[in-house]
Amino acid sequence: MAYETIHKPKFNDLPFRTLLEDWRGARASFQWEQLATVLKGIPGGGFNLSYECVDRHCAEGRGGLPAFTWEGRDGSIKTWTFEAMRSEINKIANVLVQCGARRGDRIFLFLDRVPELYFGLLATLKAGCVAGPLFSAFGPEAVRDRVQDAGAKMIMTSPALVGRVYEVMRELPKLETIIITDRFGSGGHRYLPGEVSLECAVAGASDQFECVRTHQEEFAIMHYTSGTTGKPKGAAHVHMAAFGHYHTARICLELREGARYWCTADPGWVTGTSYGMFGPWTNAAHVFVMEAGFDAERWYAFIEKHKIDIWYTAPTAIRMLMKSGEDLPKRFNFKSVFHAASVGEPLNPEAVVWGKRVLGLVFHDNWWQTETGCIQVANYATQDVKPGSMGRPIPGTEVEVVNPDGEPCAAGVEGDLVVKPGWPSMFRTYWRRHELYKSRFKKGWYYSGDRAKKDADGYIWFIGRDDDVINTAGHLVGPFEVESALIEHPAVAEAGVIGKPDPERMEVVKAFVSLKKGYAPTEDLKRELAEFVKKRLAAHAYPRDIEFIDGLPKTRSGKIMRRLLKAKELGLPLGDTSTLEE
Ligand code: ATP
Ligand code: MG
Repeated sequence: MAYETIHKPKFNDLPFRTLLEDWRGARASFQWEQLATVLKGIPGGGFNLSYECVDRHCAEGRGGLPAFTWEGRDGSIKTWTFEAMRSEINKIANVLVQCGARRGDRIFLFLDRVPELYFGLLATLKAGCVAGPLFSAFGPEAVRDRVQDAGAKMIMTSPALVGRVYEVMRELPKLETIIITDRFGSGGHRYLPGEVSLECAVAGASDQFECVRTHQEEFAIMHYTSGTTGKPKGAAHVHMAAFGHYHTARICLELREGARYWCTADPGWVTGTSYGMFGPWTNAAHVFVMEAGFDAERWYAFIEKHKIDIWYTAPTAIRMLMKSGEDLPKRFNFKSVFHAASVGEPLNPEAVVWGKRVLGLVFHDNWWQTETGCIQVANYATQDVKPGSMGRPIPGTEVEVVNPDGEPCAAGVEGDLVVKPGWPSMFRTYWRRHELYKSRFKKGWYYSGDRAKKDADGYIWFIGRDDDVINTAGHLVGPFEVESALIEHPAVAEAGVIGKPDPERMEVVKAFVSLKKGYAPTEDLKRELAEFVKKRLAAHAYPRDIEFIDGLPKTRSGKIMRRLLKAKELGLPLGDTSTLEE
């Protein structure tokens, strides 16, 4: 189905203005160096991401602004100003140093979305160490793989989660110290030798700490990728990435001083740090965090209660909201939200249309990866949105769709999605896999591993991961277009599409479909769905095989794991499932 372009008001109507109306002009004139006048570094020398997020605001008179509002599972709400946050961070940084943390050491954070996760991560950076955030839902093996690979020296965790670390402790010889935080817990934890109580240690710690004078190219944070296509890789980023976070948070998400902002991502995933922390805080925005997990009603209530201005979420969450129906949102008011955005996997055009119709919000899709560290392609608040497109490249990077020779493809022609190396938040290595890192750079480009096409207006359209593109009787079919066509059908909640080997056609399109409540998984419905897709897409692209399943396998960051669907279909080993959602 062809979707109509969503036209935007003139940007003067937006609360915050960007200069992107003239997108080509903005791209031609932007230089990363110009940001050095804002992100000036530590007075007297050195550059530290944590300093740019918090201390700079205190030094420049913004210390009294609200920085962080946290809503606990029990409904309690707490707010910290930049000044208050600085003192929490300083105390933890002092504790880390007392426990033996030295510049360059890896310190992992294995916590629910409690304030200590946010303060502890910024304290790690401030102490000159490298932070490694982990999803709190990780099992012992997932923790072991990452902590072991990174050679982490310390881990900050909670009484509820520490048992998972102990299960694999023997395989973590480099792990010296376990710091346990229990501020909101029962206080009943019995401390073992080698464990430190953060609350006790902090009580005796100074709230003054001199930020370590790291340089721009020193490692700051490592994030393991989502594991959608295989074993997660530890993408390592440097302090200078702040330039990328600051700039893209402004121009792609409209973040500014005081903006009330909710990023739904957990810091275990790169979106939860780059845009849950660094992007908003380098811009002095007010970050809101909900400790509890997804629940449609709770989410809507959170937006209304906190008068969220800017909301950044993911396609899987939007599809879950769609699944929860159209009556629920009628009970809430979303008028405060003036910008909504989405990232992580393809945003089905139907989801954009639904958001506009039902919530009165246009979800602005954007594209980036753990490796790129910041948004590379975006739908800007100031520009028309073409539902189904990821938007246009940001000022500051060159993003292209190229043919096998590395030459830009003509408009509408499918190719590899690549980025010109050199933007500040580009990853600097895959931890202990530098050869793999190097192999991602060819013909002067960084190869993202995604396939896409670009239209004459410069909008980029996602086709699929290069491993996921289906070759059926000589036609290339992207799983995304088939999935998007399927979810236009009222019975379909979610769909995952793979290529199934076929002796005649090489591969045929197979769809795994989960249905909305009230629809029965019948043979008739299968036929109807196949016809439905056939009418919308080319005849070769319709799913010849449809299987109904209750839910699709997803990563913790909410992405459909097509490789798992495929492995199950073919009876092959499942590979690394450490990021699989339970
Ligand atoms: P792994 O590299 O371990 O397989 P992953 O690629 O899912 O995992 P991330 O770095 O979290 O790990 O995800 C980046 C990928 O997510 C992109 O390469 C792309 O395939 C997909 N993606 C992100 N945003 C979008 C988007 N807006 N539209 C389509 N795909 C997207
Ligand atoms: Mg990837």
